[in-house]
Amino acid sequence: MARYTAANCRLCRREGAKLFLKGRRCFTDKCAFEKRDYAPGQRSRYARRKVSNYGIQLREKQKVRRAYGIFERQFRGYYEKAARAKGITGENLLLLLERRLDNIVYRLGFAPSRKAARQLVRHGHFMVNDRKVDIPSYQVNLGDVIQVQKNSRDFAAIHDSLKDAGRRPELSWLRLDKVNLRGELLQFPSREDIGMPFEEQLIVALYSK
Ligand code: SF4
Repeated sequence: MARYTAANCRLCRREGAKLFLKGRRCFTDKCAFEKRDYAPGQRSRYARRKVSNYGIQLREKQKVRRAYGIFERQFRGYYEKAARAKGITGENLLLLLERRLDNIVYRLGFAPSRKAARQLVRHGHFMVNDRKVDIPSYQVNLGDVIQVQKNSRDFAAIHDSLKDAGRRPELSWLRLDKVNLRGELLQFPSREDIGMPFEEQLIVALYSK
């Protein structure tokens, strides 16, 4: 399946937020957004374009899509599911995205970025409740145990990522057992736990037109 090939840092600068697409680099002073927090293009720093409400909503949707690496059609599917569920649609949407297996693998620290996590999942390095799952969009449920496959336990990329994961904030909704290379979803994350710089209500406004 095709994926974004544009330089990741350009996407952060385009969306005006740190989307943590590059792993370790995102937590260092080499982060391009820390140095140039304006959109790519020679004149964009000085641009004073008036943006319509629609434009603002569209950008917010793109920001979330890019952070999780989701294509439009699938993203729309998540929105429709979120709108049908009880509760606040925007928060439901983020929860569905957070429950993706690739995101949980990333959040646990087994991969430096969601993109890397997606690849690891696709290559069959993980099990959920003792069964191999190689579908990045798999929805993880409460109490599910995510574990590195037996044959992948010496995989250097996973160990390197776990070493670096200390740079990230600890998450109370997940439990990581570094020795046994396994993690568990203890509770669904609250909006505060998700912590990404999104204004999800703008996406709801965009799609509900
Ligand atoms: Fe690049 Fe990561 Fe910084 Fe985004 S957060 S600009 S991907 S280093």
